[in-house]
Amino acid sequence: MSTDWQSDLRQRGYRLTPQRQLVLEAVDALEHATPDDILTEVRRTASGINISTVYRTLELLEELGLVSHAHLGHGAPTYHLADRHHHLHLVCRDCGDVIEADVAVAAEFTRKLLDSFGFDTDMKHFAIYGRCRACTDKARAKAPEGGS
Ligand SMILES: [Zn+2]
Ligand SMILES: [Zn+2]
Ligand SMILES: [Zn+2]
Repeated sequence: MSTDWQSDLRQRGYRLTPQRQLVLEAVDALEHATPDDILTEVRRTASGINISTVYRTLELLEELGLVSHAHLGHGAPTYHLADRHHHLHLVCRDCGDVIEADVAVAAEFTRKLLDSFGFDTDMKHFAIYGRCRACTDKARAKAPEGGS
């Protein structure tokens, strides 16, 4: 549980409306939540809220630097508290599992892109697709020749 964003906001002289605060709390409570997930969570306390309010609030919270989003698939983006988002997303195409890997594992790759292209890479924004260990093992067991 983190309440950092509360003191952070206070320091910057910001006050969130109760509705916005609920959205932020939902992002805090859920991990990798889509706007729909957030709406469901917020509606448990504020039944009047609708999806466009959630979208607008997320946009505002992102402008304030409190939340950030990542794309884990073809659907809606998912949201994190910004200060908890220092990882890459490894998404398994078989089971849909999302593995969080520290951005440091890609340090060599991003350094190369910077050296070669002057490109400052944001590895957190989009997921990397592949197969998790369990699904790789399962796939291997099905293909006894063990090749490929
Ligand atoms: Zn994440
Ligand atoms: Zn995006
Ligand atoms: Zn998997």
